[in-house]
Amino acid sequence: MTGLPLIYDLDLPQLEQVLSTWHEPKFRARQIWQNLYRNLWAHPSEFTNIALPLRNRLEQEFLFSALTPKTVLKSSDGETVKTLFELPDGKAIEAVQMLYDERRTLCISTQAGCAMGCVFCATGQMGFKRHLSSGEIVEQVLYYARLLKQKGEAVTNVVVMGMGEPFHNYDNTLAAIDRLNHPDGLNLGARRFTISTVGLVPAIKRFADEDRQVNLAISLHASDDQSRSNLLPVNKRYDLETLLDACRYYAARTNRRVTFEWALIRDVNDSSEQARQLATLLKGLLCHVNVIPLNPTKAYAGQATTRERALAFCEELARYGIPATVRLRRGIDIQAGCGQLATENDAREG
Ligand code: SAH
Ligand code: SF4
Repeated sequence: MTGLPLIYDLDLPQLEQVLSTWHEPKFRARQIWQNLYRNLWAHPSEFTNIALPLRNRLEQEFLFSALTPKTVLKSSDGETVKTLFELPDGKAIEAVQMLYDERRTLCISTQAGCAMGCVFCATGQMGFKRHLSSGEIVEQVLYYARLLKQKGEAVTNVVVMGMGEPFHNYDNTLAAIDRLNHPDGLNLGARRFTISTVGLVPAIKRFADEDRQVNLAISLHASDDQSRSNLLPVNKRYDLETLLDACRYYAARTNRRVTFEWALIRDVNDSSEQARQLATLLKGLLCHVNVIPLNPTKAYAGQATTRERALAFCEELARYGIPATVRLRRGIDIQAGCGQLATENDAREG
């Protein structure tokens, strides 16, 4: 660990502040910003538009990478790439790139581990290690953006669905999105981002009040409180009624559709009865349901549902006027389910 501040932890005004204490003209900060976020240059040695003494000073005073790729896995169809990164303090996180038609979607992490303890989730099973800084979140996107640039491609979408609960690390997550959204930098539109939350109600309300264009997804997975509390302990704190009230508040406040996620677990939450109960809960709410067969994990006995039952679940929802789609778990063969690779890494390390 170098102990130097990570350059991606700064927003543009903070970078300007630093450069002014170094008695550099103000435009330099923007130039450095553009080098990092528009040119996607990874290190001051590449900053050919800046004089050598300043490049050296940047290198001495800032860290330009907090993420060391440790394992890179490609799915057999080549469309999903997952990278396990080591952070300066030795913690591990994952980020995944998915190719789908014209889309280049990244799935990024906001915490090492997670405190929410959802029983079927590999990240939940490992417990909470720490929050990621905004810069550590940003750098996951820059890492893939640089690789894509070499192929003449660019990141089109970012889903905040990797390790961790983004609304438990609210400020850093939203600061990271703002940085990636900056018009002088990567300029990735707010609508290209989706945040998925387990259902932290105060944060959902705050997010609604901020009236952002960022998409919101809620991990629901059950349509009655007892089943949901068994799967997602957070439901004991914010029950379904409280959660759905917050979702209605969000939809009313922002006029935006809420996405609900439902991991189908065989004989646990995949019946037509549960689909009908879900439809009743969501009645009148501007929403969409994404149904994903469970990706089985080591510490949870539940199995994935069959494709037929997944389709039947969606059809039942559709009958009640709730739009729903079966999503494929991409990259199953590379443990691209949330937290699965880091869990294996933990196991190997001991
Ligand atoms: N903490 C946030 C975002 C990260 S998890 C959240 O829970 O929403 C991203 C999504 O993957 C969530 O919908 C989560 O419920 C789901 N998920 C976690 N483990 C899974 C598994 N083993 N199989 C299928 N989906 C899973
Ligand atoms: Fe955390 Fe989301 Fe996994 Fe639950 S599903 S343990 S909130 S990462």
